[in-house]
Amino acid sequence: MIDIENINKSYGDLSVLEDVSMSINRGEIFGIIGHSGAGKSTLLRCINGLEPIGAGDIRIEGRSVRSMQGEEMRQLRKKLSMIFQNFNLLNLKTAYENVALPMEIWGYGKEETRTRVLELLRLVGLENKARNKPRALSGGEKQRVAIARALAMNPEVLLCDEATSALDPKTTKEILQLLDKINRELGITIVIVTHQMEVIKEVCHRVALMENGRVLAQGEVGELFLKPGSELKTLLAEDEW
Ligand code: ATP
Ligand code: MG
Repeated sequence: MIDIENINKSYGDLSVLEDVSMSINRGEIFGIIGHSGAGKSTLLRCINGLEPIGAGDIRIEGRSVRSMQGEEMRQLRKKLSMIFQNFNLLNLKTAYENVALPMEIWGYGKEETRTRVLELLRLVGLENKARNKPRALSGGEKQRVAIARALAMNPEVLLCDEATSALDPKTTKEILQLLDKINRELGITIVIVTHQMEVIKEVCHRVALMENGRVLAQGEVGELFLKPGSELKTLLAEDEW
């Protein structure tokens, strides 16, 4: 579904991604783990076309992101939705209005929007908080609103940039269970960027480990770091992840 082929990316003299390759399959939950500064967020921005790449190519269902412009780029952003650590909700709008926003922007009618927003709020377990503004929602609830908003346009892929990093362990687990449900029930491919090993263990099927702009290892989570003596386990043992 997403093929990243030997990409490089620099900001001026600073090389941020070096010869990065990954294949993310349709329907899987793919984790990208690495320390701060590894290039994880930059890679996500390259995937959805927000950042130009240097060498290499990124293909979404075979189409090169490099060659996309105008309407095709707009459709790409609709297909690949994103959530963040700080939720990025509009503080003056209610949960309902935040979720409705993408549909308003894309010109959907009031009734269709209403039906869909209520369905999404139900999916994320917030049907009784529709009128709350972000300041009257907990961190976990804010992330649920952000997830509902990210699903409004029926994306095929959900890109999550440290989506649980601001949450406590219990809330983190609940959000991960929600992502797992969205993956299983809606068939949405999910890419989870994190520096938390627990997140990878909890829900990811495959994982790539990044360090200083490079991919050090990638493969099945079970193979890579649940097996004794595995490659990732050895790499991670050097650190208190
Ligand atoms: P974190 O876990 O802290 O979010 P990350 O793995 O997401 O880190 P990136 O945000 O991708 O890392 O940053 C990788 C490197 O690129 C860092 O050295 C950062 O300073 C640099 N960088 C990121 N964005 C820019 C930018 N717009 N201009 C210049 N340098 C940037
Ligand atoms: Mg980041």
